Amino acid sequence: MYSAEFDYYRAKSVAEAASLLRKHKNSRLLAGGHSLLPAMRLRLASPSALIDIGGIQALAGIKAKGQSLEIGALATHGEIAASAAVRKVCPILAEAAGEIGDVQVRNRGTIGGSLAHADPGADYPTVLLALDATLSAAGQKGKRQIPVEKFFRDIFTTALKAGELLTSVRLTGYGAGTGGCYLKHRHPASSFAVVGVAAIVEVEDGKCQSVRVAVGGATSCPIRATAAEKSLTGQRPDAGSIASAASKIADAITEPIGDLYASGEYRRHLATVLARRALTTAVAKARS
Ligand code: FAD
Repeated sequence: MYSAEFDYYRAKSVAEAASLLRKHKNSRLLAGGHSLLPAMRLRLASPSALIDIGGIQALAGIKAKGQSLEIGALATHGEIAASAAVRKVCPILAEAAGEIGDVQVRNRGTIGGSLAHADPGADYPTVLLALDATLSAAGQKGKRQIPVEKFFRDIFTTALKAGELLTSVRLTGYGAGTGGCYLKHRHPASSFAVVGVAAIVEVEDGKCQSVRVAVGGATSCPIRATAAEKSLTGQRPDAGSIASAASKIADAITEPIGDLYASGEYRRHLATVLARRALTTAVAKARS
């Protein structure tokens, strides 16, 4: 199908994009186009204007300082997967980016577009939740920081206000003694996560000093599995303690998504299985 007709603008700066968004009420930003354009062709979205942000240099690139990363909203999945800086201080993010879609999707799709689109099956939201990332937004009224746990509000709904752009993602990576693992049960056609689990574990003196677990795809927004985290923190990570922590995840998924691909009950079960495997791998990486 063809999309409905629309006007096209190419913004040269964040300020110009914000101004165009304000001026054209039914407009949408265009980044990689890999979620928006299919939705337009299916007439699920019919914006009257597209504001192309692809040429805004301020939104591009990945900056690293020690273990801190600032990833521009226009960084593509391919750039993040291949970035030496991301692979060094935050390998879980590079690995997850490398598992998104196919080569074409990874070469065009951007981290900003993925987060703003807020598909429950997307991979970044889950990983960034486990990483306690902070998102930066800008609009006509200035800039603000949004903790990732406050960003996702519902399916395809975020905390971004009308006229705001996502500009970058900030996070602190991890070093020796900490391991991270993201695992997903991928949809065979798209690679989206039917369920995805991110686990980051710090092991010191044989015990878990800190444990972060996030689950995506099972509910409308990704969730932190706090009961599982608490269960494993301070414990020696062996098969028993990891299985016990993972078993607590099912209770956290109170309203699972059920659709043609997987029932809610199946997603809940998958989350527990993937959490056990992701925690086991994260612990092995922390010890290596
Ligand atoms: P666009 O499509 O350009 O925009 C998406 C939405 O975000 C639009 O509403 C747009 O207005 C808004 N937007 C874009 N940039 C900004 C910004 N900076 N600030 C505010 N709003 C903005 N994703 C996964 O996570 N895992 C997968 O396995 C996966 N597989 C895929 C397979 C296929 C075949 C396809 C087509 C897509 C797949 N995706 C997957 C989605 C893909 O990652 C998209 O690239 C991503 O969801 C959207 O990024 P984009 O840059 O293409 O955004």
